[in-house]
Amino acid sequence: MSKLDEDRYYLELVEYRDLIKNSFFDYIKDKKTMEKLVEKTNNIFLEAKVYPSLKIKEENYFFEYEIKEEKCNKLLVTIAIELMNLLKSKDIQYIKRCNNHTCSLLFIDTSKNHSRRWCSMETCGNRKKASRFSKKQKEILS
Ligand SMILES: [Zn+2]
Repeated sequence: MSKLDEDRYYLELVEYRDLIKNSFFDYIKDKKTMEKLVEKTNNIFLEAKVYPSLKIKEENYFFEYEIKEEKCNKLLVTIAIELMNLLKSKDIQYIKRCNNHTCSLLFIDTSKNHSRRWCSMETCGNRKKASRFSKKQKEILS
């Protein structure tokens, strides 16, 4: 792969990441549909000549996506396929932004009553609780 291709592939990945992030933020905020992201994803499939291929494994039938274009950004295509799988699943309705305002992560809330607030209890959840606790302690002491 030439340096020029590497640079182009890198830029494509950064642009796609930003489009995914902004589309998800708009979806979370206003339940906006993600037309621009769907259009871009379909274009990635077209350019890479991605075809579904029906497979059989241990008597189970499933689709696998094959990339027919040799000269394409395979990492970008792999991300697009995974994104498509997420968008068509019911899990997409449970996508949330972490409640810690200094954290930029998104997560799928698979908790029973969908009340999870942080990307991770170990990092953001405990940090938030610790800061609330210390604020309370200061109020008691003053
Ligand atoms: Zn977080």
